[in-house]
Amino acid sequence: MSINEIRWHPLLGTWVIVASGRATRPWRDVKCPFCPGAPETGYGWDVLSLENRYPSLSTTPSISTEAPSFSRLEPGYGRCKVVIETPEHEGDLDTIPFKNLVKYVDILGRETDELGRDPGIKYVAPFRNKGELIGVSIHHPHSQIYALPFIPLRIERELESMSSYYRERGACLVCDIVREEERGERILYANRDFILILPFYAQWPHECHIYPRRHLQLLPELTGEEKENLADALAVAVSMYNSLFSFSLPYMMVTHQAPVKGTYPHYHLHIEFYTIHRYADKLKYAAGIEWGYWAFTYDELQENRVKELKEALRKGIERLEGRGYDPRGEPHF
Ligand code: ZN
Ligand code: ZN
Ligand code: FE
Repeated sequence: MSINEIRWHPLLGTWVIVASGRATRPWRDVKCPFCPGAPETGYGWDVLSLENRYPSLSTTPSISTEAPSFSRLEPGYGRCKVVIETPEHEGDLDTIPFKNLVKYVDILGRETDELGRDPGIKYVAPFRNKGELIGVSIHHPHSQIYALPFIPLRIERELESMSSYYRERGACLVCDIVREEERGERILYANRDFILILPFYAQWPHECHIYPRRHLQLLPELTGEEKENLADALAVAVSMYNSLFSFSLPYMMVTHQAPVKGTYPHYHLHIEFYTIHRYADKLKYAAGIEWGYWAFTYDELQENRVKELKEALRKGIERLEGRGYDPRGEPHF
């Protein structure tokens, strides 16, 4: 029988998601389960949202044991979904037709809304892992959405930071970042509704963030035009990354939004990309100091990495134009 539970980490004050029975999930060499015509996908779709067949969380969870007195154990209640971004087996967010990319953004918002209505769900986490180096088991372009029964620690930290910034300065932290960075040297691209920057405080080599200009908390709040402009910013960011070296760049892309229960007026939604390549042939690892202490070391000035990315951005925009897509905003070369 499979187990889905969450165990309290009493030293860190957060939950560990435990799921046994996932060891049988497919690993790379099986026939693609996301291509059209596979048992779960069928035909006649362009972007498709499915339940993950090997979920870390379950709506019918069972637990394995009793918690020791110093910790807690609860059922691993939640949902795990997969969003298949295209019927094409190969590709990335920069090769998907623009209208499908807009639909993808729309689906992330709809899922946030729908999953968030479940009384047992506190947080909806959409993310995209790409590349074998990141541990991706299926190559077919896809994202995942975890609907969690708790607020993840990193989000709790962001909530606290944004609230205390508001208390101290009477303004939103991210709104202030947008205002200052859009005139600065670390901006890469901007359209009417979003900016793409390599943050002053980047931790991963070519880490970039997409910040909305409008102060909003959750994906379902995006207007129709904002969805289109987010799709535009995603296409440009990913095309830039894929033009940085002579290969398609592995990355993690995560959406940071507010929790789905309660109100968090000082939170400002954003998207973060983490990349692990320092150079074409050298990786950055989250090793002892980074993982063991959460103290990241950055081996170059962030501003010098921006210069590398500006060159990649130029090529990335040419590649999008070569595929018939004209970016809507202004690149900052
Ligand atoms: Zn496929
Ligand atoms: Zn804001
Ligand atoms: Fe964040």
